Amino acid sequence: MDLKSFVTIVPDYPKKGISFKDITTIMDNGEAYKYATDKIVEFAKEVGTDIIVGPEARGFIIGCPVAYALEVGFAPVRKPGKLPRETISVEYDLEYGKDSLTIHNDAIKPGQRVLIVDDLLATGGTVGATVELVEKLGGVVAGCAFLIELSYLNGREKLEGYKVQSLMTY
Ligand code: IMP
Repeated sequence: MDLKSFVTIVPDYPKKGISFKDITTIMDNGEAYKYATDKIVEFAKEVGTDIIVGPEARGFIIGCPVAYALEVGFAPVRKPGKLPRETISVEYDLEYGKDSLTIHNDAIKPGQRVLIVDDLLATGGTVGATVELVEKLGGVVAGCAFLIELSYLNGREKLEGYKVQSLMTY
């Protein structure tokens, strides 16, 4: 399947000069959504996965069907203040300034093999922080899977030594 034909490119969103990759047009097509999910499930089986971790919000949309298919759990990574119990957090750099991500401190058991899933790898800030959260809890990052990789932003450099799958590259 030509998955790229289901991605909608939105020019100048959210800011002038940015070519936004809208993946909602993959999700709203049953066949495309299933195809993308199945590809990540294959990768998850290859690397060995005990639990899926996905950053909000599109990481949930991609990660949850993968978890369901594998019959494993899903742990959400969220912006500060969104998770109700005790969390750990990691700060990461944005283009201008900093942001942080959090995870419940009991979401991952030490030694569990974790597949991190998100819609898109850009600079790698989000996935880098997510890797740190998983490892702080004693999880083993089995791999990182994305629908899309923006290779010109070199996010993969932050994932050296980790197994990475991206279904589409721009
Ligand atoms: P990074 O942290 O720079 O790698 O950016 C990746 C994060 O930003 C992911 O969680 C994406 O959901 C989001 N993101 C950045 N650019 C796009 C885009 O063009 N389409 C959809 N999401 C994007």
